[in-house]
Amino acid sequence: MGATEILTAGLKRGPSQFGPLGRNAPSSYADGMENSTNSKPGALQTPCVDPMSRAFEEARAAAARGEVPIGAVIVRDGQVLASAGNRTLADRDPTAHAEVLVIRAACAALGNERLTGCDLYVTLEPCAMCAGAISFARLRRVYYAAPDPKGGAVDHGPRFFDQPTCHHAPEVYSGIRESEAASMLRAFFGERR
Ligand SMILES: [Zn+2]
Repeated sequence: MGATEILTAGLKRGPSQFGPLGRNAPSSYADGMENSTNSKPGALQTPCVDPMSRAFEEARAAAARGEVPIGAVIVRDGQVLASAGNRTLADRDPTAHAEVLVIRAACAALGNERLTGCDLYVTLEPCAMCAGAISFARLRRVYYAAPDPKGGAVDHGPRFFDQPTCHHAPEVYSGIRESEAASMLRAFFGERR
């Protein structure tokens, strides 16, 4: 299938072309953890220890379902609002990318069509569709693990957030646990060949 070929082609060259941390690797990556000790007993939301680890858990769960292993988490004020993995096969829905699903879930959790002040963690550079959804959702920051030179639309291809027709651009931080995410995708596609 197209997405498979695109992802595999993009990742074939391996993580060695990239440093262990992308140029944008933030010093503020631990932001999500700062408030974890402040969560009040009885709070409805789950304390957020490490949002990218949660995204990886979702990616692994997606792989176990036979989906492309991509996971995403949305955090606000140190709390996980929602998490999701790819469900394009299970839902027979080409738009059921992890980012779209987690945005829908977080909006439902907040009862709001905008996610102002919320941050997205995702294991792969978002595609053009997801970059559009991220912009419409008014997300504050995007943290992604592996770049996707063939299908990504943030730092590759259309560079969606840099276009004058994009009316809200999040801060973008890349390269967090990049080699781990790339290895997971390579392993997944390797097994399926
Ligand atoms: Zn996408």
